[in-house]
Amino acid sequence: MKETICTIPINDLFLPKNGCPFCSMEKMLEEQYVDFVTGDAMMEPNIRIETNKKGFCHRHFSQMFQSGQKLPNALILESHLQQLIDEKMPKKTKGKPDKKKLDEIKAALDSCYVCDRIEWDMHHLTATVFAEWIKGEEFRTLYNEQPYICLKHYDFVMQAAAAKGGIPSKYLADFHDETARLCKNYLQELKDDITTFCSMFDYRRQGRQWGKEKDAIERSIEFLTGEAP
Ligand SMILES: [Zn+2]
Ligand SMILES: [Zn+2]
Repeated sequence: MKETICTIPINDLFLPKNGCPFCSMEKMLEEQYVDFVTGDAMMEPNIRIETNKKGFCHRHFSQMFQSGQKLPNALILESHLQQLIDEKMPKKTKGKPDKKKLDEIKAALDSCYVCDRIEWDMHHLTATVFAEWIKGEEFRTLYNEQPYICLKHYDFVMQAAAAKGGIPSKYLADFHDETARLCKNYLQELKDDITTFCSMFDYRRQGRQWGKEKDAIERSIEFLTGEAP
């Protein structure tokens, strides 16, 4: 099992009550791993082997480029590019393409070391959320008081809760009830805000003051994609 670099207690992710707590979790992991890859991980040969093999997606390459130093970025690329030359390119370019090698390139283009670590940690931390929730009242209240759970994480959390090793069946219905409510109520609120937003363009509403529907588009995009535009 891979060791997580995450040290933040679960409570700290739920206490601010600012948007979807699982989005905060993912964002925190993303920041930590992007820093880690161009920082401490440079000294760890095992991680270099993995980053050479997996590479990074556009999002994470860009974040590493923006927040990391130039030299670590170049060193990571040097060995990753060399690995592609050695393992993914055809030895001879004459003749028919090697379908197997092309599939390997496709797989390499779809893989990302940071995405994989985030996914593994999200499962790991979500299991801790389940354990805290089962333990009882205090954390359940905090969980209930979240502003919402976004669509992506409603799906993620419920899939994990219903899977083997998730939430024990005697608690599952209650957990689903609370989690679904946090997603559904906000979805309805967004829909109502968007409807109000649209109606503001009606000439009969001319001169009316904008209310909380003002940023309904931005909030909807954040709810649907996990990220504000
Ligand atoms: Zn979320
Ligand atoms: Zn990625």
